[in-house]
Parts: sequence; C-alpha cells; structure tokens
Amino acid sequence: MKRVLVVGASLAGLCTAEALRRNGYDGSLTLVGDEQAMPYDRPPLSKQLLSGDWAPERTALRSDEALAALEVEFRLGERARALDPVAKTVELSGGSSLPYDALVVATGARPRSLPGLRGLEGVHTLRTLGDALALRDALAKRPRVVIVGGGFVGAEVAAEARRRDLPVTLVEALPVPLSRGLGERMGEACARLHVRNGVRVLCGRAVAGFDGDTAVERVRLEDGSTIDADLVVVGIGATPAVGWLADSGIRLDDGVLCDAYCRASAPDVYAAGDVARWFHPGYGRHVRLENWTNAREQAAVVARNMLDPGSPVEYTPVPYVWSDQYGTRIQLAGRSSGDVRIVHEGEDQESLLALYRDGDRFEGALAINSARRLLDCRRLLARGADWHEALATAA
Ligand code: ADP
Repeated sequence: MKRVLVVGASLAGLCTAEALRRNGYDGSLTLVGDEQAMPYDRPPLSKQLLSGDWAPERTALRSDEALAALEVEFRLGERARALDPVAKTVELSGGSSLPYDALVVATGARPRSLPGLRGLEGVHTLRTLGDALALRDALAKRPRVVIVGGGFVGAEVAAEARRRDLPVTLVEALPVPLSRGLGERMGEACARLHVRNGVRVLCGRAVAGFDGDTAVERVRLEDGSTIDADLVVVGIGATPAVGWLADSGIRLDDGVLCDAYCRASAPDVYAAGDVARWFHPGYGRHVRLENWTNAREQAAVVARNMLDPGSPVEYTPVPYVWSDQYGTRIQLAGRSSGDVRIVHEGEDQESLLALYRDGDRFEGALAINSARRLLDCRRLLARGADWHEALATAA
C-alpha cells in the first residue's frame, strides 16, 4: 500500500490520516475535502461559536505545525464526483482523477431540508463553520426564532437563542422532542428544560410551508396555525453524503454499507464517520452513528485494518454523545432502547442518571449534569456488564 486516498477532510478523515501515520504508514496520503477551511471541530459550532465565546479560528482541529508534520496533501475546495473501484480511481469535480491503493470514504452527512423553501432568506441549517457564522450573525439581529426539529441541533440553537432572550418556538414532528435519541421518557425530561427556560414547544406538529416574499415571515403548520418568524432554523437530521458513489457499484443503504471491519463492498475501500453504516457485532445489525466520538474511534479502526488487512479487528464501540443546553450537560452512552429507570435524581431536578435495559441486558445510560456517573456507566457498557451489575454499581 503506497497511496492512501481519504475523501472527506473533517474529523473522521483527519483522524484516519493521523492514525495511519502513528502506526507507521509512510506512503503518500491525500485528503480531499469540498470545504475550503482546514479541518475544524463541529461540536462548538452550535455552542461556543454560536454564543460568540469562541472566534472561528479556535475551532481548528489541529495547528498548522501539526498538519504539516502529517505530510498530507490536502486538496481542499475540491469535491469527489465519482469512484471507479475497479480502476481504483476517484474523479474530482475539477476533472482530475486520483489513483489509490486504499480508499477511505469519510464524506459525512448533509442536513436534511424541507420542501417549499424557495431559497427564502432567514432560513438556516447548521452543519458547517459557514452555517454557524451566518446563524450567529442572524441571531445578533434579535429575530423571532422558529426552530423546526427538536433533536440536539434544534435544542442547542434554542438554548442559545433563549440565552439571548429571543422569543423561540420549537416545532417537533414527534410527540416528544429528543425522543429519537433519548427515548420518550428522557426526551420529555430534557424538553422540560426548554419549557422552564421559556421556549414554546409544539410537538406532534408538522410544517406545511413558509410565507414570505424574499425573506421568511411566517411558518405555516399543517393544522392551519401560523407562527411569525424572522429566523427559521431547520434541524431535522442529516443524510449521508453518498451521492458521488451512486454509480460506483458500492453498496449503499442509508450510508456506505460496511462489514464489521468497516470495509465497504469493494476491495480496499473503507468508510468512517457519519457516512458509514457498518455491522456492529455487539448489536447484531448495521448502525450508523452521527457523532464526534464515533468519527475518531472508527477512524482508528479503519487505519488499523488498512495497515493489517490480513487480520482485521471488528469495530464494536459503545456509542457516546453529549449536548450542552442552558449550561446543562446531557450525555448518552450506549443505546436508549428498551425500558428506562431513573437511578439518581438531584433534588433540584438539575441532575439525573437513567439506565436503559432490554431484559437483563444493560443497554445505555443517560446523564444530566452527572458526568462522573456517566463515565462509570461507559466503562460498564464497554465490558458488557449486565443489568444487575449496572444497577448495583450506578445506583
Ligand atoms: P439533528 O442532528 O438535526 O438534531 P436528529 O435526527 O437528532 O437531528 O433530530 C431531528 C429531529 O427533527 C427529530 O426529533 C425529528 O423527529 C424531527 N423532525 C424531522 N422532520 C421534521 C419535520 N418535518 N418537522 C418537525 N420536526 C421534524
């Protein structure tokens, strides 16, 4: 293996490159990314960057020196257009064609949009540094804010808008916000945080359309009601960025379909990060995780397996996500499936630990302002502790 090509220059792509070098790979290494910026960190975009606490430069993932030491050829501002897994080449939007011995697909995901937007001003999604800066500037104009989608993105933007004392309505299609990630009961617990902080939370409501000439003025809901708005943030999830692989013959199914070793369906093609849907041996099914921790951990396994393809290791992580809202830290380790039991609750309702179980199987833990307890749970999950042990340790 002399030529490694990584498509996607965000956390998963960068971490793959770093892990390859760390493990002694000294061949050529090329990172292609469609954004102009050097790799930056995304979690602060909806937090410290949006609040103005951080300048954009602070989101850089690595220093210039660290990047130079990697000896990577960065092809930024270029987009991969097609993959030929037989010829082992990737074609870029500029027309050039890059050969590889091994390829890593790390193209991430793009925010989903809503129909009927007609390019209206004042409607935002939040994924890139550019998105975050535009949203920060828009918030500074003190708009009336409507957030469509009560996932982590919507919830964090709502919290920041309330910190600025702006009027905020959050519209969620499901009966409970954050329930996709946390389950209904814990989604409810986190939604209370928003209600307490003055967000108008509308659940089980679908958006029918948007009114406005050039800029958005109103959000119309399917029940006929309307909400006046100067700023709309659409946070309704993301879809894996696989359009460029459509004609490649690579198996795609809500992402790049991979085996337990993060290998795609063509020789010497791997995937890491938000775009990868791999077979998780611990869960017995394919999963795709859109989070920071997964990008790093999966990158390390991909690099490891590329360098030693004869004895690959399985990728069996304990998923982990966190979110900051109103100065409160919410963390989820493992899965939010099955039944949930609250094992610790602070008197002020500001802290909580809940465990998820499926029969005797300990599935996951949710912590609100309980980082130490969550860390214990992560360890228990990592070594496959059962429900009784988890309960005895965590309670
Ligand atoms: P994100 O990373 O954007 O927060 P999630 O998938 O975690 O993504 O959350 C998106 C939320 O948006 C989910 O709670 C989902 O139910 C909600 N949602 C999806 N489509 C719509 C819609 N058309 N209107 C309102 N809410 C929606």
